[in-house]
Amino acid sequence: MATTEKRDYYEVLGLQRSAALDDIKKAYRKLALKYHPDKNPGDASAEEKFKEAAEAYGVLSDEEKRARYDRFGHQGAGGFGGFDPNQFADFGDILGDLFGFGDIFGNRGGRRGARAARGNDLRYDLTLDFMEAAFGKDVSLNVPRVVSCETCHGSGAKPGTQPVTCTGCGGRGQIRYSQGFFAVSRTCPQCGGAGKVIQDPCVACNGAGRVREEKKIAVKIPAGVDDGSRLRVAGEGESGFSGGPAGDLYVFISVREHPKFTRRDYDIHAEQTISITQAALGGEVETDTIDGAEPLKITAGTQPNQVYRLRGKGVPFIDGNGRGDHYVHVAVKIPTSLSPERRALLEQLAVLDGENPPSEKKMMDKVKEFFS
Ligand SMILES: [Zn+2]
Ligand SMILES: [Zn+2]
Repeated sequence: MATTEKRDYYEVLGLQRSAALDDIKKAYRKLALKYHPDKNPGDASAEEKFKEAAEAYGVLSDEEKRARYDRFGHQGAGGFGGFDPNQFADFGDILGDLFGFGDIFGNRGGRRGARAARGNDLRYDLTLDFMEAAFGKDVSLNVPRVVSCETCHGSGAKPGTQPVTCTGCGGRGQIRYSQGFFAVSRTCPQCGGAGKVIQDPCVACNGAGRVREEKKIAVKIPAGVDDGSRLRVAGEGESGFSGGPAGDLYVFISVREHPKFTRRDYDIHAEQTISITQAALGGEVETDTIDGAEPLKITAGTQPNQVYRLRGKGVPFIDGNGRGDHYVHVAVKIPTSLSPERRALLEQLAVLDGENPPSEKKMMDKVKEFFS
């Protein structure tokens, strides 16, 4: 799909978004007459405008396509046949929840007959543990999907019989309506665009040519995937229609939280509690990383919330080329109960610092006063 900026269809036709079908037809007719290649031989920009108007008209004149276009813009207007997975990332979220995934991204046409079309894409939601996402995992997914019926080899017709040419459209699948020199094609209602109809349906698939089954698909989840990552497994979507290529399988990944580690992109953030003496005097502690316990040098005079960085101890990059960092956020534990010796030492420290520590006795007196 082209990625160049497309003009808004309403703008192309010079219409308000509330325009009635009649106005759309009139506006298109005017533009088509003006820019028709027969009237502008060799004028590339006129031809471009003619095509642009025809495309806008094609969408806005179709109630269903117009509704989709109004909601989702150009990507919603159809033409998903060879859709670009890069664009997919942007609207998968919006559309996946609203519609059956395949209905939007696949080709609906030819369901009952001989027209070859690409199979629908499938979505599989996979939840991984924090560590599985960080280090990758080989998974086996049971993917329910629609595949070609083995009994009729996808034709939908009872073995030994053949679909017959549709009488409604003479096998073209489209019916053309002409108005002056404008011709509009519509999908044939009799055969749904297939051009053929099945008179003797296959019993195994009820004439659909396709059946539901569950398939085990092995997928290698690379190290470094994150919550919201999407993996494309080419060709593992639904079977194509009448010999068309299979769709793709998209694995949508969500990742469970970890009790100790928080991930930001490829960096890990975690807390490490140290004692007041470790904070003041420095020392070495062991701190948990996703690789296990790692030695961490605490420098003398470390403050609460100070951050240490362990380079390369974060999550592996998804391209396999290096790793993020591990950040240690320091918490200092203040003792809540003191043995007499500890208390005496801290009191000495307070005196050295010119502070006037309350003695334990004075404290107890205050407590008694409080309750008396
Ligand atoms: Zn069948
Ligand atoms: Zn037909």
